[in-house]
Amino acid sequence: MTTRKHLIAGNWKMNGTQASTTEFFNSLNPADFCTQSADYLICPPATCLHTAQDAISGQKLPIATGSQTMDYHESGAYTGELSTDMILETGATHAIIGHSERRQYYNETDDTVSQKVEAAINAGLIPIACVGETLDERDAGQADTIVTTQTQHALSRVPKGTCPSKLVIAYEPVWAIGTGKTCDSAEANRVCGVIRATVARLLGDDVANGVRILYGGSVKPGNAAELFGLPDIDGGLIGGASLKATDYTDIAKATAGLTQTACSV
Ligand code: PEP
Repeated sequence: MTTRKHLIAGNWKMNGTQASTTEFFNSLNPADFCTQSADYLICPPATCLHTAQDAISGQKLPIATGSQTMDYHESGAYTGELSTDMILETGATHAIIGHSERRQYYNETDDTVSQKVEAAINAGLIPIACVGETLDERDAGQADTIVTTQTQHALSRVPKGTCPSKLVIAYEPVWAIGTGKTCDSAEANRVCGVIRATVARLLGDDVANGVRILYGGSVKPGNAAELFGLPDIDGGLIGGASLKATDYTDIAKATAGLTQTACSV
């Protein structure tokens, strides 16, 4: 039977300095991060990736690091962008791709998401491809169509034979990000199931059974256990609450004993 370990991924967005990054990791206790229950990841600003690595090693924390975006070109005249090599060089293992804020403010499209997912996998970075509907789309009854279409695009260039552990998808309803409005847990699980069924159609049942699908949108210590206890939610992509060491720790602890064995595909 396929098992999926939860992934507790923090997205710090444009928050944090090198000093606050060191302070954050220094205040974590390695004993609170059980690697049998989950994998842990923090995506700080790019300027703090090295600092985060140093603090994590110093504290012997089982936490990986990731970037919040990346470019799909190998190098060249792309001012301000980060290549996969630059990200990997910091020791990072993951890259968030297609976050709704990148789609909204920086012209990220389904096509650039698909190119970035392909480039990340080819380079050995694990993409966290974000999909999710706006409130207007949900109110118009289009949530499943939007999420399915975004997932199809995100996976359209995934190289054949990609191991499911090398790919993560995050369902992030746009209306729940940073608003304090969490998606109802049963509904979040249902939509994650829609995404998993889409993965099965495109990449086969083995990949669908093994790929981690996270929920993101106002995850907090108080709702994490309920969300992560559902069969198609394999952890969280956490914004605001990941900035506070105590909240990130409490969310991490909510995964105790929750390795996923059930699957809706
Ligand atoms: C996010 O940044 O992806 C996110 C889900 O933010 P928040 O947890 O603050 O809603």
